[in-house]
This record gives sequence, structure tokens and C-alpha cells, in this order.
Amino acid sequence: MTRRVTVLAASVDAAFLVFFLVEGSPLLAWLNVVSIVMYAAAYALLRRRRNFPALALIWTEVVGHAAIGTLLVGWDSGFHYYLLMFIPAIVVSGSMRQVALPLIVLFLAYMGLHQAAHVIGTLAPIGDVALQILNLFNVSVFFAMASYTARFYYELVRKSERKLRELATRDALTGLSNRRHLIELALPEIARARYAGQPVSLVLADIDDFKHINDEHGHEAGDLVLTQASAMFRDACRGQDVVARWGGEEFLFLLPNTDTDHALYFAERVRACIAGMAVDHDGCKMAFTLSLGVASLAPDENLEEAIGRADSALYQSKSEGRNRVTLASPPHADTLRPLGVAQACSL
Ligand code: GH3
Ligand code: MG
Ligand code: MG
Repeated sequence: MTRRVTVLAASVDAAFLVFFLVEGSPLLAWLNVVSIVMYAAAYALLRRRRNFPALALIWTEVVGHAAIGTLLVGWDSGFHYYLLMFIPAIVVSGSMRQVALPLIVLFLAYMGLHQAAHVIGTLAPIGDVALQILNLFNVSVFFAMASYTARFYYELVRKSERKLRELATRDALTGLSNRRHLIELALPEIARARYAGQPVSLVLADIDDFKHINDEHGHEAGDLVLTQASAMFRDACRGQDVVARWGGEEFLFLLPNTDTDHALYFAERVRACIAGMAVDHDGCKMAFTLSLGVASLAPDENLEEAIGRADSALYQSKSEGRNRVTLASPPHADTLRPLGVAQACSL
């Protein structure tokens, strides 16, 4: 970004150079030659990643050019606008306490230049038309630069917002949704499905003997199994399905608009895919299996209870020998109770 601004600023100065040569003001033309040289030096420094001297050079050029330009051609030339470009740069550079002094200094410098320009008068006057053109040009450049800077900061904020959201909703290792995100998505989805009279199913899956994979091949190999299994889970999902890393080697699928039969079919397909998969680690093929529990939300059953039933079914898959799918038994009506958002989020 700074390199692009440097090229842009040097181009503006090149335009000034031509303007002042045509206008017959060699002193002002020389001022722009000096500015172009300073920007070229700043550009070279930025390419070598020597950001601090490059920025110092750019700031010196802007302040010097604005001050000298104003004193030579007068306040009406509009060169002083460039000093205002420092306001956003200073404001975003630190805490309010840190930026207060530089802002006051800038304000005093701006007002000082205003006074000086009026007390000293114009040192190298140019014609009225030229002065108007110069003012129009400077206002336009300032307008464009201020808009560009504001947009740049806006994009920066948007980018960090996206990053924060990503961190808050994704599991870092597998890239799947995390537990909190799945609950966040599940609650409105369940409400919507109930309203529309559609079924919602859950599939809880747990990698079998995962500790053994870690112990035999190392933690890194275990991570590889988790990421490759997750990629397969993601591929198995339709657009509306959500899969989350529920715990260490445990995953939860939320399947909207899916009845028990289709959820069982889905779970069996995932089980078979994983059973047929071999993860390559340092030339060693690691095979592993998955145990799954399936539960479709009963009318008035809450998310926590349905997950509990899927978990019991998963436990049954484990106790019956692993690498299998078990359908959860129906909920007991007398244990049903509504679940609030806060309660669900604490899962
Ligand atoms: P079971 O078939 O009963 O599920 O046995 P298991 O070995 O899969 O389950 P257990 O709960 O005994 O062990 C799970 C292991 O998963 C223990 C833990 O160190 C490991 N684990 C949890 N998270 C991660 C992770 O992010 N990476 C790796 N490599 N291992 C993890
Ligand atoms: Mg396990
Ligand atoms: Mg487990």
C-alpha cells in the first residue's frame, strides 16, 4: 500500500513539475524535482523493507512540500490541505493518550502555517488562473487521497473482523466449525425446521482407538488423521449440513431436513468411507475406523437431549465392537424440557 502511495505521490509531483515549467516558475518546478527524488528514495527503501526511514522521508516530503508550497504560492494554492492527510494516520497509530500530542502539534503547525502565509505574504506569486487551477488540483488530490485512506482503514477493519470471526467459529486444526458455532447454527435451524415441519438429524462420530494412533505413530500423525478425516466429512456434507469438531477426535453432524432413514444412510456412508481410507504418514499407511450414533430430533426435544441420545448410541457402537452405526432409542417423554440459548451454548 505505502509503495503504491509513493508512486502515486511522485506522479502528482511530476504533474506539478510540468505545470510549473509551463507556468514559468522554475523555483516551484525545482521543488517538485526534489520531491520526486525523495519519493524515489522512499520507494527504494520500502523495497528493501527499511520502512522506518522510508516513512520518515515521505512525511518530511509531505510536510516540507505543503509548507514551502504554501509560503511560495500562498494559502489559496491549497498546498496546506496535504497536512490534513496526517490526521487519520496519527489517529489510528495508537491510544488516545499517545495520539493527543502529535494531533496538537499538527494543529498548531497548520494554524502556524496559516498565520505565516498571511503575515509573510506570497513569495513566488503565480497568475490568478494558474492559482485557481492549482487550488482545484490540490483539492481534488486531497479528496481522492482522503477517500482512499478512509477506504483502506475500512478494509483493514473488515479484514480483522473476518479474521476474528474465523478464530471464534473455526477449529484451528481441521478448519471445521467449532462446538460453539455449531450450536449457534443449530438453534435457529431447529426452530426453522419445526416451523416448517421438517425433520432434523444429528450424527455423532468418534474415531476408534485414536489414542493408539497417537501412541504408535506420534501426535503429528494423529493430527494428520484428524485433518484428512475432516476433509472427508466436509465432502460428505450437502450445502445445508454442518459438521463440527465436537471434541478431540469426536465430530458432530447437523443434518437439516433429514429423517432417520436418510441420517442412518449418511452415517453408514461416512463410516464406510473412513474404513476404506488410509492416511499416508512418512510412507506408512494408517487405517482407522469410526463409531457413530444417530438421533433425529423428536418433537419438542431440545438440542442437548438429542445430542445426549446420539452420544448414548455412539457409546453403544463402541461397546458392541466399534466401526459401526447405532440408532439412538427414542426419547422418554417425561425427561423432556425446553433448552434456552445460554444453556445450549454452555454445552
Ligand atoms: P475409543 O475408541 O474408545 O474412542 O478410544 P480412543 O483412543 O479413540 O479415545 P480416548 O478418549 O482414549 O483417546 C483420545 C485421544 O485423542 C487422547 C488425546 O490425546 C487424543 N487427542 C485429542 N485431541 C487431539 C489432537 O488435536 N491431536 C492429536 N494428535 N490427538 C488428540
Ligand atoms: Mg475415540
Ligand atoms: Mg472420544
